Amino acid sequence: MHWQLTEDDQDLFERTIAPLLPERIFDAHAHLYRHAHYGPGGPPPLFAATPAEVGLGRFTQDISWLHGQGRTVGGLFFGLAFTGDRASNNAFVAAETLTGRDHGLAALPQLVVAPDDDPDQVRERVRQGGFVGLKPYHTMATTDGPTWQAPLEAYFPEALARVAHEEGLTVTVHLVRDRALADPLNQAAVRRYCERYPAMRMILAHAGRGFNPWHTIEGVSALAGLANLWFDTSAVTEAGGFEAIVDTFGHERLLYGSDFPVSHLRGRCVAIGSSFHWLYADGPTVVERHGAVRPVLVGLESLRALTLACRRLRLTDAQIEDLFYGNAAQLFSLGR
Ligand SMILES: [Zn+2]
Repeated sequence: MHWQLTEDDQDLFERTIAPLLPERIFDAHAHLYRHAHYGPGGPPPLFAATPAEVGLGRFTQDISWLHGQGRTVGGLFFGLAFTGDRASNNAFVAAETLTGRDHGLAALPQLVVAPDDDPDQVRERVRQGGFVGLKPYHTMATTDGPTWQAPLEAYFPEALARVAHEEGLTVTVHLVRDRALADPLNQAAVRRYCERYPAMRMILAHAGRGFNPWHTIEGVSALAGLANLWFDTSAVTEAGGFEAIVDTFGHERLLYGSDFPVSHLRGRCVAIGSSFHWLYADGPTVVERHGAVRPVLVGLESLRALTLACRRLRLTDAQIEDLFYGNAAQLFSLGR
């Protein structure tokens, strides 16, 4: 069910997505890992269906389900076993991305960091491993309550933002709290970090965690004017957040990302009230009322939403090429 390509997937790809895709795609949000990095308990149930080793070989092979053949030319890669054996997962990502050329990829690694990591050791690790950026994550937050309510500082402390500034790193941030980008605490934290650390380049993952697009629609203007802020499209299955970002920041700040391997799960996210809910093909929430429900891969849903945003925004071919490659090429100084 997850991690397989069905006729429905292929049909949706050919009909809706392929006509829009440019020749070159840089995937600005993809995870590499081994199940073993999660420790004896293995990965969480959602990722149990993923291959036991997800390296660049696997990525190159299976990302073609979303991109077709021959288009994927690079990516920004980081670990996934945030609360498992992070050190081994980081080492795996560094080693895999070194083999990028063998796969025809400009493969750039980001280092997964915990809030209590020593800033000087992070700096050393970044330099040694050739990491271009950092990847904090809320599940490692130092907070008393549930981590999905954590303020940014609890999982990405200021000392690490300073390292990112001094080393010129990108930082892929998955905001949390109920209303994500519409949350005043999040807005204030992002603005403060970006203004105080201008050489840090912050990428807000999932369109500012716009799984409910209304949060991004409502909140994105509060960040207008920040020169070192980008957004990625990863795993967002509705168009409204993409549109709001392009309206506010211009198309240059939106980076395509697949969220591989989440992209290869089957289902989609829906906005419900001021919340959101992930529907998976094997979950209890897909109820067949009006004929068969036939979910496709999350990554295809996300690409379809992006094609809708591109159409509604009347983006030119050149602007669409920027979303998929040019913006990342600029950000990471790749060839144009
Ligand atoms: Zn992700």
